[in-house]
Amino acid sequence: MSTIYPEVKVAPPGPNAQAIIDLDRRYSSPSYIKEYPLVMDHGEGPWVYDVDGNRFLDFMAGIAVASTGHAHPQVVRAIQEAAGRFLHICGTDFYYDSFAQLCARLASYLPEMGPKKVFLTNSGTEAVEGALKLARHHTRRQYVVAFKGGFHGRSYGAISLNSSKVAQRAFFGPLLPGVIHIPYASASSETAYNPARLLEQDWFVSHVDPREVAAIFVEPILGEGGYIVPPTSFLQNLRELCDKHGILLIFDEVQSGIGRTGKMFAAEHFGVMPDILLSAKGIASGMPLGAIIARERVMTWPRGSHGSTYGGNPLCCAAALATLDVVEGLLENVRATGEHLQQGLRALQARHPILADVRGVGLMVGGEFLHPKTQEPASTYVGDLEQLAFQKGLLLLSCGKSTIRFAPPLVVGKHEVDVMLRILGECLSVLDEKHQTRAEA
Ligand code: PMP
Repeated sequence: MSTIYPEVKVAPPGPNAQAIIDLDRRYSSPSYIKEYPLVMDHGEGPWVYDVDGNRFLDFMAGIAVASTGHAHPQVVRAIQEAAGRFLHICGTDFYYDSFAQLCARLASYLPEMGPKKVFLTNSGTEAVEGALKLARHHTRRQYVVAFKGGFHGRSYGAISLNSSKVAQRAFFGPLLPGVIHIPYASASSETAYNPARLLEQDWFVSHVDPREVAAIFVEPILGEGGYIVPPTSFLQNLRELCDKHGILLIFDEVQSGIGRTGKMFAAEHFGVMPDILLSAKGIASGMPLGAIIARERVMTWPRGSHGSTYGGNPLCCAAALATLDVVEGLLENVRATGEHLQQGLRALQARHPILADVRGVGLMVGGEFLHPKTQEPASTYVGDLEQLAFQKGLLLLSCGKSTIRFAPPLVVGKHEVDVMLRILGECLSVLDEKHQTRAEA
């Protein structure tokens, strides 16, 4: 295959895709969203081919998961080699090399956290769920604090922490008691909002004693809630509050971790260290794996109290070790390409006022769309944009109320960013016409 990518040219969904979509719609759960009719056949780097031979540029990476790009040869080889040895033995009960190596490798990041121990899971949700149990066990306290707009997964514990979308919680109560939700930092703010002050002076004084709070769960960069980068003071204030009252600070880095921001973990950008860090998504290039990485003094589970049949499966561990090797070599690319991406988006913003805000770190970039006159979320516009971009060969995904997340595989280069910006610019021109949101001449 040529390394100079020709323009994407597509006419989806074709007949092969349509047949699979029909079968899927007939038999798969109606809870799935499936934003647009992409039926993937195979991928290479940041490119995706569907079952009719259409080619798409991928700027959503399977929801910020395909960190090394699609079918990275080093990762594929590692999985194949591991599969040829054994598929399963159960890391809760037995020893194997890749499990031990991966725990050691993950414990080596963020040296400022001090010595660590690692628990391997199958998903981000399970990492969250385990951390909830660990926090309650370690502190012997019952309350937890989470943030409005936060997303932590789909299990009962996780949806009790969530507050990004009503549908994820509304039908399933009663949820876990003892969860307190407070506002996250706002997208535009370097403001004086101090969540610690809110908790200490208002909430805690009137509702709960800080000495009864086990943990604060926070995404150091808000993901599903809209790709919001908080000011450093926001996380520093939380750290101070936790230190003062013996509360555990838990960073959910399921989306922001493993190189996505140009550092291995977003925590490094802020210089604020958590007591427990949760990882998943990009950690194994899409193989199901998550991790609870905790300070050694905090990982105090009694023997046999928490485990997992598949968590840290040998194929996933092999994929993760190869992924970490690749991602460590991509951090410089993530920073440079991310900068290029934000510059390009700002140039588009100057021509399309509906693109109200461009923000992010590395290749975790959000573009928020607000109606220019009312500053209300332009959610219909964003829905149309996802569909139109797809028709033009670009895979995008929204988050928050009206934000497009730009979260491509970390192997993406400036050339692909330019292709993406050109397609996006074409889409914005079409949609500005349709929605009458053109810049005033
Ligand atoms: N935490 C965060 C911050 C997430 O973004 C997600 C997934 N979007 C999860 C947890 C849940 O991860 P999983 O889907 O792997 O269970």
